[in-house]
Amino acid sequence: MINSAYALINLSAIEHNIAKVKEYAPQAKIMAVIKANAYGHGLLTVVKALAEVDAVAVARISEGIRLRNAGFKDRVLILEGFVSVQELEDLIIYDLEAVIHSWEQIEVLKAYQAKQKLSVWLKLDSGMNRLGLKVKEFSAAYQQLQSCHSVNQPISLMTHLSSADDVNSDVTVQQISRFNDVVNEYPDDKSIANSAGLLAWPDSITDWVRPGIMLYGVSPFQDKNGKEFGLKPVMSFFSRLLAVKDIAIGDSVGYAGTWVCQKPTKLGVIAIGYGDGYPRYAKPGTPVLVNGQRVSLVGRVSMDMITVDLTSESKAKAGDPVTLWGEGLAVEEIAHYSDTIPYTLLCGVTQRVEMRTK
Ligand SMILES: *Cc1c(COP(=O)(O)O)cnc(C)c1O
Repeated sequence: MINSAYALINLSAIEHNIAKVKEYAPQAKIMAVIKANAYGHGLLTVVKALAEVDAVAVARISEGIRLRNAGFKDRVLILEGFVSVQELEDLIIYDLEAVIHSWEQIEVLKAYQAKQKLSVWLKLDSGMNRLGLKVKEFSAAYQQLQSCHSVNQPISLMTHLSSADDVNSDVTVQQISRFNDVVNEYPDDKSIANSAGLLAWPDSITDWVRPGIMLYGVSPFQDKNGKEFGLKPVMSFFSRLLAVKDIAIGDSVGYAGTWVCQKPTKLGVIAIGYGDGYPRYAKPGTPVLVNGQRVSLVGRVSMDMITVDLTSESKAKAGDPVTLWGEGLAVEEIAHYSDTIPYTLLCGVTQRVEMRTK
């Protein structure tokens, strides 16, 4: 059986991108962020290319357990931590580390009776106002964790940047200095930088860096592609042409007939749609590669199909290969045409799409 739509994951591109991380942060330890099924690339596929990193991070305990059940032995940080004693037990059983971001978690740890200990990363809320202890609470939380019988020492310290992808904003400088002011006196390992921090804010590079999107070859910045940083795309998203037909002036194409033919047009119908994770809101003009040549999306994206203007590719025929994004067509560009960010496109590839590895 040939699957129309498939995503090809290039493991050597991940290794290349990790080498780039090391160029930007030669002294730092690397925590590879592989949450959300490794940004849609396949958790257990991506870890095969992570020999050169020092730890990985996922959002949820279930993701960490999946790694352990697959035999993954390296350090795993759970970015969302835990909310209950049952979850704390899971963390300990599976040897997972946890972000501590609230007093409730510290209370659970203090009340925990077993002998086993948890490794923790205390998180400062330096301005994002999502997870983390406030500046004025931090030293008290730190002391409690230091004296807590169920916590491995030493602990590690972290914060998360809210606006590092905006190189004109002064928020990042403020967040970095707020974090440094609070943690300066502590000797422990510290971590600030996500991909945008690594690439644009050298002062955010500390003991540990936490790259996510750049490992997949993609830029965190709206106006730049991964290529401009020497990154290589890891996921290429492919399908094929189903039909080629002639459309006359005045004919409309697709649901609601939003695209009306202005000149005699060769139309291509491609087996990809929002049921595969191709964005429903991709605008007319969004580039698609047919036989490696750029053509433009016309009409609305359906669940299983899209339509493109093939007039410039008169030899194209049913069965010919199509690239939706990846090598030769940056996912950043497709995100731009869909008013979204590449993260959502990568995470959004659906179960129907066959995942292959090279
Ligand atoms: C997702 C995440 C990262 C990685 O972010 P990228 O923008 O993909 O590099 C780093 N740290 C935390 C806490 C995260 O949630």
